Amino acid sequence: MANCNQQSIEVNTKDYVVQATAANGQVRALATVVTGIVDEIARRHQMWPVATAALGRTMAAAAMLGAMQKGTEKVTVQIIGDGPLEQITADADGEGNVRGYVQNPHVDLPLTEQGKLNVSAAVGKGHLWVIRDLGLGEPYRGGVPLVSGEIAEDFASYFAQSEQTPSAVALGVLVGVDGGVKAAGGLILQLLPDASEGLAIILEHMVRDLPSISSLIDTGSTPEDIVERAIGDLQPKYLHRLPLCFRCTCSRERCESALIALGAEELEGLIREQGKAELTCRFCQEQYLFDKEELKNIQERIAEAESRLSQEK
Ligand SMILES: [Zn+2]
Repeated sequence: MANCNQQSIEVNTKDYVVQATAANGQVRALATVVTGIVDEIARRHQMWPVATAALGRTMAAAAMLGAMQKGTEKVTVQIIGDGPLEQITADADGEGNVRGYVQNPHVDLPLTEQGKLNVSAAVGKGHLWVIRDLGLGEPYRGGVPLVSGEIAEDFASYFAQSEQTPSAVALGVLVGVDGGVKAAGGLILQLLPDASEGLAIILEHMVRDLPSISSLIDTGSTPEDIVERAIGDLQPKYLHRLPLCFRCTCSRERCESALIALGAEELEGLIREQGKAELTCRFCQEQYLFDKEELKNIQERIAEAESRLSQEK
């Protein structure tokens, strides 16, 4: 029998995040490459290009937000819009574990006038939410209305409004003709509280003059290369390099808990009508099959728990 705590999937990649300070501590810089992780997710969900681009941008931002956390502190990003993707969800933690999915992976829209994937139309109007779980009870939740649905601008707005941190954000995904991910990653530059006033304009120009993140990664740039390319003149000092892993926390045990939560009656119906239960993880698409015998076992456990409860009364 499978180990109950076994994580269903764990895919190691060459992806990582770097964190640096620059301009004598007035600027914080984060850069990441998430090509391997986004490619893995796109294949697992058989995603179509505009969905892959939207998820990849969100995953890059989430991985960088995660890298700002300590250890197992978790960040969840939710982008909920009225476009056909409906919802994008990405989780990341301070140990480099990331996962994510879009509600509707099979979205197809005409390209923009510039010949680009129309992420903005796929996302639509709505909100960006960032939920930080520091393991201290109630998670902290901040959100902003979406500015454009292009995701990078939406994160810049989140940092400015919800965290009072002026930030430049660049995110990019390049999807190949076969639907595979050729490049995915991002850059966040933030002004720290004692930064001089002129620095905001300098940073803005630096990001504007930067080639697209996806083309930089596609031609072999590492996260450090991206930081150097963007703010090399401001003498970046690297603090932290965090390898990323695509890891899902789903397990057979969690699926059992979900079946127990259905209750004896629902479970009885399931056994009678289908004779089995098939559960699929929304994040990693791992499938968990419970046959009739296993479902009856779970049913017995519910019955035992209920009789224990009634005896205690
Ligand atoms: Zn999973």
